[in-house]
Amino acid sequence: MEDANDSLFDSMLVDSSSKLIQNGFARSQSSEECVMFVNVGGEATNEGADGVKFLSDTFFDGGDVFLTNEAIVEGGDYPSIYQSARVGSFSYRIDNLPPGQYLVDLHFVEIINVNGPKGMRVFNVYIQEEKVLSELDIYAAVGVNKPLQLIDCRATVKDDGVILIRFESLNGRPVVSGICIRRASKESVPPVPSDFIECNYCAAQIEIPSSQIKVMQTKSTAKYENKIKELTMQCELKAKECYEAWTSLTEMSREVEKVQMELDQVTFKSFTTELTAEKQAENLRSISNRYELDKKKWAEAIISLQEKVQLMKSEQSRLSFEAHECVDSIPELNKMVYAVQELVKQCEDLKVKYYEEMTQRKKLFNEVQEAKGNIRVFCRCRPLNKVEMSSGCTTVVDFDAAKDGCLGILATGSSKKLFRFDRVYTPKDDQVDVFADASSMVISVLDGYNVCIFAYGQTGTGKTFTMEGTEQNRGVNYRTLEHLFRVSKERSETFSYDISVSVLEVYNEQIRDLLATGPASKRLEIKQNYEGHHHVPGVVEAKVDNISDVWTVLQAGSNARAVGSNNVNEHSSRSHCMLCIMVKTKNLMNGECTKSKLWLVDLSGSERLAKTDVQGERLKEAQNINRSLSALGDVISALAAKSSHIPYRNSKLTHLLQDSLGGDSKTLMFVQISPSDQDVGETLSSLNFATRVRGVELDPVKKQIDTGELQKTKAMLDKARSECRCKEESLRKLEESLQNIESKAKGKDNIHKNLQEKIKELEGQIKLKTSMQNQSEKQVSQLCERLKGKEETCCTLQHKVKELERKIKEQLQTETANFQQKVWDLEKKLKDQLQGSESESSFLKDKIKELERKLKEQEQNSESLLKQQMKELEEKHKEREQQWQQTHCYVEAVKAAATPDIGMNCCFNESRVTYYLEQEPHPSSSKSLNHLFQSMFHIPLSSIGFFM
Ligand code: ADP
Ligand code: MG
Repeated sequence: MEDANDSLFDSMLVDSSSKLIQNGFARSQSSEECVMFVNVGGEATNEGADGVKFLSDTFFDGGDVFLTNEAIVEGGDYPSIYQSARVGSFSYRIDNLPPGQYLVDLHFVEIINVNGPKGMRVFNVYIQEEKVLSELDIYAAVGVNKPLQLIDCRATVKDDGVILIRFESLNGRPVVSGICIRRASKESVPPVPSDFIECNYCAAQIEIPSSQIKVMQTKSTAKYENKIKELTMQCELKAKECYEAWTSLTEMSREVEKVQMELDQVTFKSFTTELTAEKQAENLRSISNRYELDKKKWAEAIISLQEKVQLMKSEQSRLSFEAHECVDSIPELNKMVYAVQELVKQCEDLKVKYYEEMTQRKKLFNEVQEAKGNIRVFCRCRPLNKVEMSSGCTTVVDFDAAKDGCLGILATGSSKKLFRFDRVYTPKDDQVDVFADASSMVISVLDGYNVCIFAYGQTGTGKTFTMEGTEQNRGVNYRTLEHLFRVSKERSETFSYDISVSVLEVYNEQIRDLLATGPASKRLEIKQNYEGHHHVPGVVEAKVDNISDVWTVLQAGSNARAVGSNNVNEHSSRSHCMLCIMVKTKNLMNGECTKSKLWLVDLSGSERLAKTDVQGERLKEAQNINRSLSALGDVISALAAKSSHIPYRNSKLTHLLQDSLGGDSKTLMFVQISPSDQDVGETLSSLNFATRVRGVELDPVKKQIDTGELQKTKAMLDKARSECRCKEESLRKLEESLQNIESKAKGKDNIHKNLQEKIKELEGQIKLKTSMQNQSEKQVSQLCERLKGKEETCCTLQHKVKELERKIKEQLQTETANFQQKVWDLEKKLKDQLQGSESESSFLKDKIKELERKLKEQEQNSESLLKQQMKELEEKHKEREQQWQQTHCYVEAVKAAATPDIGMNCCFNESRVTYYLEQEPHPSSSKSLNHLFQSMFHIPLSSIGFFM
């Protein structure tokens, strides 16, 4: 233990002349004159009997006072000085000292940290900036409450008279309890011989005082070498550690990077999963919405279908009821059907009879017509016009026997020429009267006969008036068509008629189509077809269905006629205007078809023009007119004479009329005359022509010869007429009854048909309804099944949706929790790692730096110290040598004088030591201070020491 302590003390001691002793200050301790004794942290004391006087603590700079009441073990003669101390960062500057050599004693005690540990308070002490104690650890040296003295530390005071004591902390706060400064005696300052030693490591020459060489060689060198070795080892170790730490740090940083990347990935993953989860949730929401909508739709559809089914059921029941009713009424119907069939049979019979009667009637009618003559001539005389009346013209026509068809012309003188025609119209007879007689002839065209009606006469006698008429007073043309439409309508049940119209003009032996809209492209020629009928190919045949059509067609014709000439009347008088009505008849009873034509001709003026009056174009016109009119006369007379050759082709007029002149075709001629005496010549000419046309009857020779025969014929004719009338009457009656029966039969037929149709319809409806019902029932059942299926799928979907939602929630929760946990863990790890690495590295770095610094410092210090010490030692040595020589001389002198007592009471002339003893303890003891801390910070007493 002693050895260990020695080595410890040695390691702490720098100055080999100084010592560390383990007990308190004793009166007899020092022989040197005590210049001052500072009771550090305590009060000054009066000089006691023993002569030691303690000064109060006044020379300090920095630090704090610390006091204790603890008993100081081995406290020496003045243990109380150890109960106070200065602690912290401080230094002492003692001045006003006479220059010279001094010895400094420092008194230490560990009174602050009562429980240690070692190394808690380690510090260096410098006197006059010379290290005197290195790494002083009081606790390690003596423990607690036990004094430790550094004595005999040499200090040289120069002219400034200052001793500077500096405390440098290595660990914890330095502490000192007392400072004693003594004047060094010459003996106590031995000369310090200097020498050089070589560093084993750096081969540096270190100057060392010779007094220390031995010690240095023995202790310090070894110590330093050891220390250097130790430090080198430590340095190596630390370097290794540093390297390891660096590698681990790089690894750590790599790991940290990895972890960072992982973290990034995980965050990204979590982000993407969140996104997908959100999307899925959105999808789910939309699906559920759609599902809800579908559900609603289906429900609505089902409701509507149910309603429909209900409606259909009611309809079906209604229909079945109706069907039953129908079935019930079938016997009644059957009866009716039988009756109807009977009626139909009767009707058929009647039809046959009617047909027979009709043919008979036609035959009879034809016979009557024939009896009347196929060529009939009506004479019409116009009234005197205003001009004639104003010019005083007289009437030469006598109408006395006009009713019998006789006409007298008062010719020259008193002679009267008589003419007989089929009918004679006076100027008073109007258009209606004229047409009434013509109408029976007109009807023949509907019976299939060709008919030709023409007006002949001098210009201005009323041909156009008779044929065309005026809009207010329509003529034969219009009335004929009107009549045809009326009759055809009447006969519409048995016949169907197809009527079309052509309007032609013959001028200068040329045919012109008055209905042609475009320009006349080709010369129109008369052709005969395979049936022997004559027609003009390319001529317009306008189909007319009603009377309004007729008027427009006739207007178009007359307009077209007007366009051809500057003077309408003039032109019209020199051309023939021919209206052709074509009738196609179909007998609806037997399907017989006939084709017939009705020509209505407004001939050109028949007046003869004096050959000297005309020439050129007019002459040609006149010749043409004469030719055509005489050709007409020739044809008619040839027909009357039943000649084998009829000269139809002598003119365009007769050629066109070929089918309607002769044979069983009917011809009606209106001979128009003027009543004026001025026109008497032309009148007579016209009447003669007409008479020629009328033929045989008016032959005066024949007349005469056949008077009896004529009478007979007349009587026969009358008889035939009356028979005809009777027949006609009966026929009419028959027709009426037939019509009645027919209408009745038709009504029955219609009813029957209607009923049958209704039955069929109802049956069809029933079938349709039943099939529809079946279908709808099927549909309903299908829909119900589908609905069920849908509901099931819906249920399962709902379950699935719920489950998915739950799963998603769970997943989300667990995932988020996991992620959060992971994130936390990672963050924690990262933090820990960062902290650990940082702290470790920083700590290591710090330590390395510190160590390096320490090493350097120590090296520097040791070097400089050694140098300085060596220098100082040299100086000291010199000084001491001198002193020693002086002292030696002095001692020798004293020895020579008397035997001196070298003890503690030895006094030197130069100085005097006084001792003081502090009687009372300091009011703020260390214990009480401890208590104060405790009460202030509520911390245990044991730990206070650590804080100090
Ligand atoms: P035509 O055609 O024979 O040359 P019109 O028919 O042009 O003769 O008749 C000449 C004029 O005599 C017309 O103004 C016409 O109105 C008139 N006229 C002819 N016949 C009659 C009649 N029966 N009653 C009244 N006026 C008539
Ligand atoms: Mg005319």
